[in-house]
Amino acid sequence: MINIPKGTKDCLPEESYKWHFLEDKFRKQARVYNFKEIRTPVFEHTELFLRGVGDTTDIVNKEMYTFLDKGERSITLKPEGTAGVARSFIENGLDNNPQPTKMYYITPVFRYEQPQAGRLREHHQFGIELYGSESYKADFEVISFANNFLECLGLKNLELNINSIGCPTCRAEYKKALIQFFSSKEDQLCSQCRERLQKNPLRVLDCKVPTCKEIAKGAPSVIDYLCQDCKAHHENLTNALSKAGIKFKVNPNIVRGLDYYTRTVFEFISNDIGSQGTVCGGGRYNNLVEEIGGKSTPAVGFGMGIERLIMVLENANAYLGEKESPLFYILPITENESEVATLITNKLRVNGINCETDLCGRSLKAQMKYANKINAKYVIVIGGEEITNKKVTAKNMFEKQEIEIDLDKLIQGDIDIDLFR
Ligand code: ATP
Ligand code: MG
Repeated sequence: MINIPKGTKDCLPEESYKWHFLEDKFRKQARVYNFKEIRTPVFEHTELFLRGVGDTTDIVNKEMYTFLDKGERSITLKPEGTAGVARSFIENGLDNNPQPTKMYYITPVFRYEQPQAGRLREHHQFGIELYGSESYKADFEVISFANNFLECLGLKNLELNINSIGCPTCRAEYKKALIQFFSSKEDQLCSQCRERLQKNPLRVLDCKVPTCKEIAKGAPSVIDYLCQDCKAHHENLTNALSKAGIKFKVNPNIVRGLDYYTRTVFEFISNDIGSQGTVCGGGRYNNLVEEIGGKSTPAVGFGMGIERLIMVLENANAYLGEKESPLFYILPITENESEVATLITNKLRVNGINCETDLCGRSLKAQMKYANKINAKYVIVIGGEEITNKKVTAKNMFEKQEIEIDLDKLIQGDIDIDLFR
């Protein structure tokens, strides 16, 4: 017996309707906001992530699925959705189009992490990317997209945390202040944070270890270090959110795990599913496109973990769509009627009607049981008598209702389907 790799999950036929429901909702909302789908490969040259995501991040340092292909090229399975989109934006000259460029994706993501609830080695993300606008209005659009999507799903209790981590200029000052602050408490930090301190001190603010969290509470706030332009951007955004009635909290400890962020960063957090409560994370990354070889292009976006989203929705008993069931089960009593049953089933399906018939040579009783099990709404029994009289009866399995149908018409697919819905 070969088992599934650690940290991965199957999406079984009984569960997939939930994914379809969410994917449909997401695509519909993207249409309303005029974002278009982009599909990029599951793997890219490793260098893209080294340069794009940044080599001081946890993702690049220890979480990537990297291997040499048969041509000795270093290849990596995407550890996040944005770098591939940025690569494609440059490579396909999308920057020559009138801006902004508004894209969305639905993708698997691979990270070599310690599996636990809400933390997998392969997970999936919805994401949007808005390229070519520096304005806070673009940040507003991206955050409003996520907020509206989550609210439409019935999630009203998520906490939107927003922060600004400034631009490289003002962040340099802030980093110095942070290193100074944490250095005085270095011996109390976890070993990972001691390692991070010089290279990426902002990540210490994001550490989940309780003692580090406690120390981080007293750290200098990045908001106090923002330059005038970054400060104005942040204030314009928070004003726009307030005016639109989108609730949020400015949280100076939200820094995000990726190096490419500038100015706005945000997370939607659930307090109901334990410590892996971040359902959606995003922000602005004005230097990413240039960093990987394109011309300087401001950008903002988010990634939303679909497995975590489902966890939160299930926890909240929210609606997640419905399993589709056949409208008809066509039941041949014996092998003699099975040809007619197949003809009818085929005709109904050609006409777009979900129906089922026997494929296993079951008895009448066993077929009734099966029709019940698959939740068929009507059963149409076909025996010798029905064929002689050219009349069949559709029996409603849920209510006392029977509808007589002309057999020849049914074989022609000539029935008023509205009578059955
Ligand atoms: P975390 O702090 O939880 O590790 P992250 O900062 O690494 O999250 P992002 O890179 O922003 O997360 O990914 C976007 C979203 O994808 C997260 O908010 C989360 O919902 C989801 N996500 C990230 N890593 C995993 C994982 N290993 N398993 C399941 N979902 C994940
Ligand atoms: Mg992570």
